[in-house]
Amino acid sequence: MSATYKAIEVTKPGVFTEVDRPLREPGFNEVRIRVEACGVCHTDSMLVNAEIPNLTYPRVPGHEVIGRIDAVGSNVTTRSVGQRVGVGISGGWDGTCLACLRGDFVNCANAVLTGIMIDGGYAEVMTIEARATVTIPDGLESVKAAPLLCAGVTTYNALRNAGLRAGALVAIQGIGGLGHLGIQYARRMGLRTVAIGLGNESEKLAKELGAHEYIDSGAEDAGAKLRTLGGADAILATAPSGKAMSGLINGLAVRGKLLVIGLAPDPIQVNTGSLVFGMHSISGSTTGSVQDEQETLDFSLLENIGPMIEPMPLSKAREAYDRMMTAKARFRMVLVTANGNGHTSHSK
Ligand SMILES: [Zn+2]
Ligand SMILES: [Zn+2]
Repeated sequence: MSATYKAIEVTKPGVFTEVDRPLREPGFNEVRIRVEACGVCHTDSMLVNAEIPNLTYPRVPGHEVIGRIDAVGSNVTTRSVGQRVGVGISGGWDGTCLACLRGDFVNCANAVLTGIMIDGGYAEVMTIEARATVTIPDGLESVKAAPLLCAGVTTYNALRNAGLRAGALVAIQGIGGLGHLGIQYARRMGLRTVAIGLGNESEKLAKELGAHEYIDSGAEDAGAKLRTLGGADAILATAPSGKAMSGLINGLAVRGKLLVIGLAPDPIQVNTGSLVFGMHSISGSTTGSVQDEQETLDFSLLENIGPMIEPMPLSKAREAYDRMMTAKARFRMVLVTANGNGHTSHSK
């Protein structure tokens, strides 16, 4: 086995460099993973563009990681060599802040973000605490499982925690990396699923993914259209536009919720009356805990849900990242390493 491995580092903000790194043994509580696939996520830009303070460089991005364990720390009992595992953005939590003491690890005040604060999966090898890993069910292919660890869990959690009953009307705004998964989850959860896209090209795809109805927000007022359908009990807002989200609030049913998971550069603007009358609410939802990631994988396998992906070799990380950032990806870019070629288990 080679004593070095290839990794893509963000050397300093904006600069990607392919490097050879020395292989190191996993430390206390850690496992070492031979990475097979790693998804490219918009949140990677937090590292690439130094969007949060106190980041240190060089740093390897990537928080949708799937691979096989090839070494474990001497005290690790929960994971073993040969196991296929995944790592999402929850790379660590302190266990001592108020959120953690309440078991709400995703909101840890000192959360350690994989691929942003510690090295992630744009590499042939990564080392991570065993508790931050999930196990990958045999029926899930590595390249398809990778995006479920961020895009998947984010949409799945937002929907399953929204207090919706079977048959409730849910609109998924935006048919992109998050939205194309949101449509599938909503449909398989027994919800009346309305996809909101821009233009009529997406209608066929939205319906293939499971949408019962399609609204072209370029051709009609999506909020008004939702009202004619009876109003939305929830709207999962994924497209990066505060303005577009604002226009949907009038499409909510009584006690309906706008669930915001997409980050937009502009604010949501709302008339107070639009919240008061009808008791509407706007709430945010973020990724999930490690256990949420595990349950996302399990549900995705159970209901045959998966992302549409564009695989690319690890060496083309910069190209994949740029493609994602310019919204050209259909719908998730996934980097595949030499370990991943021909070594993934196949579904269906
Ligand atoms: Zn992500
Ligand atoms: Zn904490």
